[in-house]
Amino acid sequence: MERILVIDDSPVQANLLKSILDDVYDVTMVHTAESGLHYAKTGDYSLILLDVIMPSINGFELLTLLQKESSTRHIPVILITSLSDFQNEERGLTLGAVDYISKPFHPMVVKARVNTHIKLYQYRAQIERQATLDQLTGVANRRYYNTISLERWQDAVRLGVPISICMMDIDKFKVYNDTFGHVAGDKVIAAVAGAASARLQRATDLFARYGGEEFVAIVLGGSAADAFEHMKGIRQAVENLRIPHNETVSPWVTVSIGGVTLYPGPRDSYDTHLKIADTMLYDAKRFGRNQVVWYSDKMELWREHK
Ligand code: GH3
Ligand code: MG
Ligand code: MG
Repeated sequence: MERILVIDDSPVQANLLKSILDDVYDVTMVHTAESGLHYAKTGDYSLILLDVIMPSINGFELLTLLQKESSTRHIPVILITSLSDFQNEERGLTLGAVDYISKPFHPMVVKARVNTHIKLYQYRAQIERQATLDQLTGVANRRYYNTISLERWQDAVRLGVPISICMMDIDKFKVYNDTFGHVAGDKVIAAVAGAASARLQRATDLFARYGGEEFVAIVLGGSAADAFEHMKGIRQAVENLRIPHNETVSPWVTVSIGGVTLYPGPRDSYDTHLKIADTMLYDAKRFGRNQVVWYSDKMELWREHK
């Protein structure tokens, strides 16, 4: 059931809206803008019905606050008010409200407009989800990675926690394609992505297809030693798939992994550290592939001995 947040200082009005909608929706009522903002941030609401005239913070001001917050910006807001003149309507819509309902309202009109905006919200959410995923593997795509990696980096700077950046590349994959064909190769890319992403399932983990047969992972928190162990587990998980490779190259499909762990400061650059991860990946290839090479901001270097 989709959740709707009603923010109205009048309990009578709020209850009226709730009674109109609560056969189809899960409706929460709050009576101040402050608690409205709090609920909007925490709950997973698909729509907000917002009264304009309220004491202390009014609806227009709250709408402005909701639009500023990244966690609430996406929630559609319908303004409900007795201010029926068109300047106020225009002001509300300019501030980012999706619709405007004047009091007194007809229940059927409220319901119809709410239904429309909930449908649009669901549709947009589905499109946005699809736009973030790589079609072949189902993991995050490069576009999503570009946005989220910088957010994670900024989170790490702000929270003062370590961040690990990791590049992973399938070994001798050109030979695989030449031997088994491109369609079989695609299946391998998907299988490798599945094995790796299964081990990167925390809310703060990011695993994405960087391009071709290359992947990138970002992990927040944990030491360089932790990250190195974690990535060895992923490398092993891929090997354990036991996907036959061209025998002249290797019995199984394997990956090489390079990464870096650091406490990022405000002057550090994400791109520089991604390049370090890529250099570690290059070393893993040079040292014989199917291994992990890891670097830390304490200038420690780990590599698997084989
Ligand atoms: P290395 O161990 O040094 O990584 O060797 P490699 O052969 O994997 O490296 P290289 O970068 O030379 O080749 C990567 C190959 O991956 C080239 C291309 O044929 C294949 N490839 C890239 N993207 C795809 C894809 O989407 N599907 C398939 N089937 N193959 C791909
Ligand atoms: Mg490769
Ligand atoms: Mg490659």
